[in-house]
Amino acid sequence: MTTLSGKTALVTGSTSGIGLGIALSLAKAGANLILNGFGDASAVIAEVGQFGGKVGHHPADVSDPAQIADMIAYAEREFGGVDILVNNAGIQHVAPVDEFPVERWDSIIAINLSSVFHSTRLSLPGMRAKGWGRVINIASVHGLVGSTGKAAYVAAKHGVIGLTKVVALETATTNVTCNAICPGWVLTPLVQKQIDDRAATGIDPQQAQHDLLAEKQPSLEFVTPPQLGELVLFLCSEAGAQVRGAAWNIDGGWLAQ
Ligand code: NAD
Repeated sequence: MTTLSGKTALVTGSTSGIGLGIALSLAKAGANLILNGFGDASAVIAEVGQFGGKVGHHPADVSDPAQIADMIAYAEREFGGVDILVNNAGIQHVAPVDEFPVERWDSIIAINLSSVFHSTRLSLPGMRAKGWGRVINIASVHGLVGSTGKAAYVAAKHGVIGLTKVVALETATTNVTCNAICPGWVLTPLVQKQIDDRAATGIDPQQAQHDLLAEKQPSLEFVTPPQLGELVLFLCSEAGAQVRGAAWNIDGGWLAQ
């Protein structure tokens, strides 16, 4: 098992869903954790803290570059810097492109794409100085293919994969790696909302969930946050040291079609 004791991981958007699952896997492997995200963080701090590492929470709204800078400064001050950066915070909005609210486009690009640029540019100097680092971007299958109604999300996630490749190349001769993970459907609040929206049209909620999976994910099963956490641990391990610039799909067969 990968031992990450002595390393500090910052996981954006880790008060819920995938980010929380990844934070738990990293904490179990011995890392100190800086959590981030909205909502009351006391319960998640306790949950992640049960494995004995140091745990903090920074409430930065990652749509604001100044708050990201504040979070990285907090990491340096309180934890000695960020060794593992997991860019996970993300939001969704579904509407046809010609009806897509402009302010939703702007916030999705800011949260799902620009925040990855800001946290990466601010964390890299510390990783280079220490001679080791991992940048892991939670993109999506929507970083590699499109779906109707998701113009901003698909554009942002394709951008994340492009940025991942550039950072991987710029760090290629160092012990810092940068990769993207591309999940298919994972049952989190972000996806539950899309199931609820389908059920609101009068479909039985179980049927709505089945239909959502059947359209895209051949396994008809959700990917789970612990499965994503294990992939993050692999990318942090020595075995993963030459995985650079990958866009690694974990998607129940979505992209095999
Ligand atoms: P979620 O809604 O459960 O969690 C999102 C997290 O981000 C929460 O902790 C929330 O507080 C935080 N967050 C939202 N806006 C923020 C902001 N401005 N600043 C700081 N934190 C903010 O969502 P999730 O499904 O766990 O999604 C996590 C990531 O995984 C996203 O980037 C999403 O695009 C990606 N993803 C999700 C799925 C899926 O099926 N759920 C599939 C592929 C990719």
